[in-house]
Amino acid sequence: MAASQSERDLPSALCSEFLNFSAKDTASLWLVAADLQQEVYRHLAVYVPRILCQGPSGGSSNSSREEQREELACQLLLLAPLEWLLLGEEPASGLALLQEKNQPSPLCGHVFKVGEPTYSCRECAADPTCVLCMQCFLGSVHKEHRYRMTTSGGGGFCDCGDAEAWKKGPYCQKHTPTASNRDTEEDPVAQLPADMVARGYSIFSIILKYAVDMLTWEQEDQLPAGLEPPDRGDTYYCMLFNDEVHTYEQVIYTLQKAVNCSQKEAVSFATTVDRDGRKSVRYGDFQFCEQAKSVIVRNTSRQSKPLRVEVMHSSVVAHQCFALKALSWLGQVIQYSDGLRRILCQVGLQRGPEGENSSLVDQLMLNDSKMWKGARNIYHQLLMNSLLMDLKYKKIFAIQFAKNYRRLQTDFMEDDHERVVSVTSLSVQLFTVPTMARMLMVEENLMTTIIRTFVDHLRHRDLQGRFQFDRYTAQQAFKFGRVQSLIGDLKYVLISRPSEWTDQLRLKFLEGLEAFLELLKCMQGMDPVVRQVGQHIEMEPEWEAAFTLQMKLTHIISMIQEWCSTDERVLIEAYRKCLSALSHCHSSLPDGEQPISLSLAGHCVETFRYQVSQDKVSIHLPVCRLLAGLHVLLSRTEVASRFPEQLPLGELSPPLLIELPLRCLVLCAQVHAGMWRRNGFSLINQIYYYHNVKCRVEMFDKDIIMLQAGASMMDPNHFLMIVLSRFELFHIFSSADCRKRYREANKDVVQQQNTLIEEMLHLIIMVVCERYVSGVGQVEPFDEVRREIIHQLSIRPMAHSELVKALPENGNKETGLERVIDSVASFKKPGVTGRGLYELRPEWNKHFNLYFHHYSRADQSKAEEAQRKLRRQNGEDTALPPPVPPPLCPLFASLVNLLQCDVLLAVEGAVLQWAVEPSGGGWTESMLQRVLHLVGMALLEEHQQLENSSGDDDITFSYTSKITRPGEAPSTSGSVLALLESLQNAPHLEIHKDMITWILKMVANIKTMRERSSSISTVTISQGQGKEETVRDKDKAERKRKAEMARLRREKIMAQMSEMQKHFINENKELFQQSLEELEASTSAAAENSPPSMELSCVSQVCVGPRRVGGAERRQLVTCILCQEEQEVRGHGRAMVLAAFVQRSTVLSKNRRRNLPNPEHHDPLFMHPDLSLGIHTASCGHIMHATCWQRYFEAVQLKEQRRQQRLRGHTSYDVENGEFLCPLCECLSNTVIPLLPHTHTPDHSVDHPSLEVWLKTTSQQVAVLHSAHRKQIDGVAEGAGPAVPEGFRVDFIPQNPFSSSISEMITTFSMSTYKVGLKVNPNEQDQRVPVLIWSTCAYTIQSIERLLMDEEKPLFGSLPCRQDDCLSSLTRFSSACWTAAPVTTTHTHFIRLLSALVPDSQVENTPCILDIDMFHLLVYCVLSYSSVHSLDQSGRSVVDSAHLHLLHLVTVAHLVQILLTSTTEEVCMDQDSVGSEEEELTCQLHNTLRKHLNSSVLPEVTSGWQLFRCIKVGILPFLRAAALFFHYLNSTAPPADLLVTGPGQWEALCSYLSLPSNLLQLYQSQHTLLEPLINRWCCHPGVRQMLQEGGVSVRYPRESNQLIELPEDYSVLINQASSFTCPRSGGDKSRAPTLCLVCGSMLCSQSYCCQTEVDGEDVGACTAHTFTCGAGLGLFLRVRESQVLFVAGKTKGCFYPPPYLDDYGETDQGLKRGNPLHLCVDRYRKIERLWRQHGVAEVIGHAQEANQTLVAIDWQHL
Ligand SMILES: [Zn+2]
Ligand SMILES: [Zn+2]
Ligand SMILES: [Zn+2]
Ligand SMILES: [Zn+2]
Ligand SMILES: [Zn+2]
Ligand SMILES: [Zn+2]
Ligand SMILES: [Zn+2]
Repeated sequence: MAASQSERDLPSALCSEFLNFSAKDTASLWLVAADLQQEVYRHLAVYVPRILCQGPSGGSSNSSREEQREELACQLLLLAPLEWLLLGEEPASGLALLQEKNQPSPLCGHVFKVGEPTYSCRECAADPTCVLCMQCFLGSVHKEHRYRMTTSGGGGFCDCGDAEAWKKGPYCQKHTPTASNRDTEEDPVAQLPADMVARGYSIFSIILKYAVDMLTWEQEDQLPAGLEPPDRGDTYYCMLFNDEVHTYEQVIYTLQKAVNCSQKEAVSFATTVDRDGRKSVRYGDFQFCEQAKSVIVRNTSRQSKPLRVEVMHSSVVAHQCFALKALSWLGQVIQYSDGLRRILCQVGLQRGPEGENSSLVDQLMLNDSKMWKGARNIYHQLLMNSLLMDLKYKKIFAIQFAKNYRRLQTDFMEDDHERVVSVTSLSVQLFTVPTMARMLMVEENLMTTIIRTFVDHLRHRDLQGRFQFDRYTAQQAFKFGRVQSLIGDLKYVLISRPSEWTDQLRLKFLEGLEAFLELLKCMQGMDPVVRQVGQHIEMEPEWEAAFTLQMKLTHIISMIQEWCSTDERVLIEAYRKCLSALSHCHSSLPDGEQPISLSLAGHCVETFRYQVSQDKVSIHLPVCRLLAGLHVLLSRTEVASRFPEQLPLGELSPPLLIELPLRCLVLCAQVHAGMWRRNGFSLINQIYYYHNVKCRVEMFDKDIIMLQAGASMMDPNHFLMIVLSRFELFHIFSSADCRKRYREANKDVVQQQNTLIEEMLHLIIMVVCERYVSGVGQVEPFDEVRREIIHQLSIRPMAHSELVKALPENGNKETGLERVIDSVASFKKPGVTGRGLYELRPEWNKHFNLYFHHYSRADQSKAEEAQRKLRRQNGEDTALPPPVPPPLCPLFASLVNLLQCDVLLAVEGAVLQWAVEPSGGGWTESMLQRVLHLVGMALLEEHQQLENSSGDDDITFSYTSKITRPGEAPSTSGSVLALLESLQNAPHLEIHKDMITWILKMVANIKTMRERSSSISTVTISQGQGKEETVRDKDKAERKRKAEMARLRREKIMAQMSEMQKHFINENKELFQQSLEELEASTSAAAENSPPSMELSCVSQVCVGPRRVGGAERRQLVTCILCQEEQEVRGHGRAMVLAAFVQRSTVLSKNRRRNLPNPEHHDPLFMHPDLSLGIHTASCGHIMHATCWQRYFEAVQLKEQRRQQRLRGHTSYDVENGEFLCPLCECLSNTVIPLLPHTHTPDHSVDHPSLEVWLKTTSQQVAVLHSAHRKQIDGVAEGAGPAVPEGFRVDFIPQNPFSSSISEMITTFSMSTYKVGLKVNPNEQDQRVPVLIWSTCAYTIQSIERLLMDEEKPLFGSLPCRQDDCLSSLTRFSSACWTAAPVTTTHTHFIRLLSALVPDSQVENTPCILDIDMFHLLVYCVLSYSSVHSLDQSGRSVVDSAHLHLLHLVTVAHLVQILLTSTTEEVCMDQDSVGSEEEELTCQLHNTLRKHLNSSVLPEVTSGWQLFRCIKVGILPFLRAAALFFHYLNSTAPPADLLVTGPGQWEALCSYLSLPSNLLQLYQSQHTLLEPLINRWCCHPGVRQMLQEGGVSVRYPRESNQLIELPEDYSVLINQASSFTCPRSGGDKSRAPTLCLVCGSMLCSQSYCCQTEVDGEDVGACTAHTFTCGAGLGLFLRVRESQVLFVAGKTKGCFYPPPYLDDYGETDQGLKRGNPLHLCVDRYRKIERLWRQHGVAEVIGHAQEANQTLVAIDWQHL
């Protein structure tokens, strides 16, 4: 159909032109033309509209055939002449020659597709934007380094070969420059012949200009001069453009209305518009198109601006299409030659006559935002292939880009396309090259430009000129979102620090810094808050925008500091500038007001009149914080000490410096104290982010540093008094009775005060103690990271990703974690679940600081608890003294004086005094703990000084002597030391006792040190030590006593608990019995060498036939889990049932291509050996009364009905389909199996008829049944009926052996199996009902046999109890289910089944033996025979004889089946010269078969050795399954040899099944009887046909199915997925490529394009696939997400951890971290086992029960 249509469309004229046209001639004509451009244009004017203007699909075509035709015509008629002209010869050979001569630059330049994996080396990449393609990566040195793997968002290219991008190993093997490679300086154009260069210039400029003109063309009806078509028709397109405002659904709906198309077409239009940016939706005359346009505009203009639609003349569209093709063509041609590439670059960047910004590339860039997506993509691609690949022109282009930067960004702000399709996104390619960035900074002042552009785009300011984000409109918010990309550009520019500075660079950087300070000034003090009193705030103020800005700028601020740190002059200048910016900000601090004067402990200070709780306060202080950062740098680089004269240190006013950060910290304290509750969540969120790892480096941390800087420059007493005053706590410590007043005050106020005091003490601890910033303390950055990790791991062992999250990342996304982690922690690998954990090595515990500044309150208490526990475990005391801090840098050295200043001593004294008399609420233990910590710090300091000093003179610290002085006013108490001593034995301070002891010991220690240094007496020291020793001993003894008592207590509790447990077990016997049995089973399986018990060692254990041992006269007692009543299982008793889950299964399928059977007409009687669809039954093993279960299920139904009325949606189980959760274990179930009693041991006195006799009798019986049935149907009595065997009564109706309740349950389970197995509505009359039950019995046994085999477990005794119970009840049930069906049904089934073994002319359509699964046949025959046997009233036969004969027959048939399908090719192998008996017999049988088949289709075999092996291996699964079947059917105990694995299995198996161990004797001994049967099997036409056509699909043994093999390296999968295209939408990339783990198909999931209709509902590709591949159940790997997906049916699914782990033993669901992932085989096997055990549905059920949000997901759309 498509063909004829396009034939018609192709104008015949064009056809003939095709034939007559010669590209070569055209090219030579052009070559001599006076005006080449005119000639080429004339050609294009004629042909372009004719080729690319072909009706409805023109523009962008959707029929692939048409597309091909267009493509061909373009190539032959339009591009070929250009190629001839350029090359001067046949294009193919010309291009090949060019390529051969080309000496390519070493750049790889591979442009990334969406979803393609990219690699970045974390050790060698200049910055994280430097990436390699997979091919380059695998050939590079970085493969062995620490790397990060990500998936590309599309665009960008491989940086292999760019020396600047890599610190090491810039070239992969492929791109390593060789000696013959040209020097990069050499001009590649010089390599080309001169005339080609000339032609190249002219053609490239004509074509590029044409393309640029057409793409930037804005008229819909006119064309540029020279391109007007010769014959202009009234043909138009109605062109629909993309926008980001309207949704897919809106567009689809509108299109259906406007252009009258189907839903499918509309979807396709919408998809193309989304992808390409535009699409013609109608073709016709102007009027016709206008009409569609107006409908679309009208329909979409209601809420928003209308969709953009234009009616364009067809020739304009055609030329635009060709322009795109021409650009692609240019991109291809230049790939052949670096010379041509450079020519194109020159042409593109050549300035036009209009001067500035007039080159063709400029024109494209400047019109970027006006073009549609498809056009942009193509020219961006060309820019990447040309300008960005040529290092010389890349620079020139970069300059143009930088010159136009502001304008491009402004265009982008107005543009509503994503950034990836904007030309501005090229910045990453240009700015990240360090030399380029520096050049642009120097020459184009890029840094300043970016910052100014940014600031100019954020216009909303308050009166003070600060940013204001409150009351932002949607439009402004959108713009704010866009403008953030500029910060990204700034980051690129700054990402690598300069190693050398030029004066120019200094100048421009400082200019940039000035601009940046202007930006920070706009942020300083933004979003101020005022405490709300009385009423709660009405509206939560906006806060996120300001924090977004802060977060985005965090790295920039850090980078600017890093730049400053590399040059002293820059640093000094930057410090000056920052200081002056800060003074500008401070000018708004109230200075007119009278300062207040404070005095305490004999000191006096003046300060502002300001209260955080009443005045405005802001969290945003970036200028202060930048200054703090620079201040640290002054210290770190020692600039402060070396050039103090150059620094404006004199201008610093310490009280001013600390003012704003202090206010901010006080705000946090007050919020903690609950004073700001009425200000809502907005403030809480701000405080949270202030401390959060993403912001704290440039917020909280810097505020602490600023306080440290200020404090180190002030009198410590003054500093503390100001702190007290800002905390609004001054009055508490300044007057003795004030405290009393507060005790009587309002309880809330007291509590607030207490919290504030705690917070203030904590702040002082931090100011003195936090020295792990290089420049504050004498540490390296390394120490800082290590300290963070130590403190994280002090909370608990953590996974790698948790640690990464807790550490701040730098601009390179590095935390420094890997450098230190191994030195402080040991790694513990994960098991099959969970993740790897790092545990702190014990030697680092002494570095633990309880008041670590990055702990939240929760972290702190968790860490405290963990540390105390650890100490107790180690038998140590529980004191957590401060760790020894590193020494301070000189600039901060005076900080320590805070610890011994009078004001702090007064505060300490006051708190201790309160602790001594702890009446009232005005005191907390936390306060005391903090004071003890401060005291400890002071003692440590003094100790350090003493230890490091040579004499007394350089010791400035004398804390011990100060604390012995009695307190001064206002606290009139004793000295601090005296207070501590009195607290030591205070009973209410038990917890702190160890700490106080530690302090007192410390004091004693210091005293001895001081004495020693003055008197140099060694005696005192040893005495002191001795005393210490005894104290320690005493402590130890005490602790031991306590530990002993604790142990006794524990034992007593244990005893009590075990008593309780026993009681519990009695109550829940069933449960525990099971788990005990499971335990036993596993131990018996494990203990291979233990002697088998007497009962089991009985050798003659037989499970089938007249000799079988019943072994099951034992009573079965079970307990109902619902009513706890015990019940015996009896045929006439109350029915007991087992909860069960029946599902379709394809786990064993050897043929996934087979279509699902038609439920109405499917005949399931013969299972095909490919087992393509089976029914599996599983159970959790929980037993209930049938009546109890019914009541329970009704309740579930009722609950579900009520729930559905309340809220729509699904539960994890589908009640309407009979699903419920087991009331005990919540296992998903959908039916119940009734328990039936054991069969009785046969009467051994009855004769066992021979096979011959039995066959004769049976065929007589069959004949009688045949005629009886015919009578029933035809109603005609035939003259002489067949001879009736004695005692056989056709009309006999056997008595139902079961009670009505059991019968009812038999029907229930039958119907469930029938319903699930066939997917039909229940129908008790259907003849197929019993077959399906036999089928699930056989299939379940088969699948369990496979599992046991593959897991190398013994056949018996290793199954978990629940499976054992399930198989046992299922098998016994199957043997009884015929009682619920009409007798004749079962008779008919038996007759048909038997005819497969004993061909019967009266039965039609019997399949050949190659088409039958023999185990299923055996099970069906045995189970259906009972109904025939029931008619035999002679009492002279037992059913067991028949079972044995049937087993023999089926076994022989299976032997034949295996021989027929074996493909032994004769391999000469050394073997015994004389074949064994088995081998000979095998040969005989094989030759017999050859005879019957006329030898042509079976190969000749001379030795039976291989054939026999084949048979033995092939038949084993059958025998094993048969053994399981008869074991469960007849309740015969298994022989000992089968309870273990190991040798002797075969013999044991054969003997258990009453078979000769040489199976071929079965055939040999009944040779005469079997020979005719074998002959007839072979003569079945199906056999010959299949063997001749080689159609044998199943060979024996059937190999077990496994999940597909997965690659070891996850990126291989990503790469595979990235080249996968959606099968439905012509080469489009799939958004969610998903891999079926069962069959390996890649699917396009979660997308409109690949939805399919299944049972009248559109479902996604995964769900649709499950119906063909997994009978409704599927296991997938979502490749982009690295996530396993389980789907069952249409409504159920869950995600499961993927089997891929990184080196830290963690999965990466969502692929967010980018650590290399490798396959964890154990985890994958676990998933596979889950699948093979049919446990996936259950996992989904449990997952959905545990997580209700999973229920709400539309799984069917995946
Ligand atoms: Zn590459
Ligand atoms: Zn490479
Ligand atoms: Zn590397
Ligand atoms: Zn019950
Ligand atoms: Zn259960
Ligand atoms: Zn698709
Ligand atoms: Zn599949």
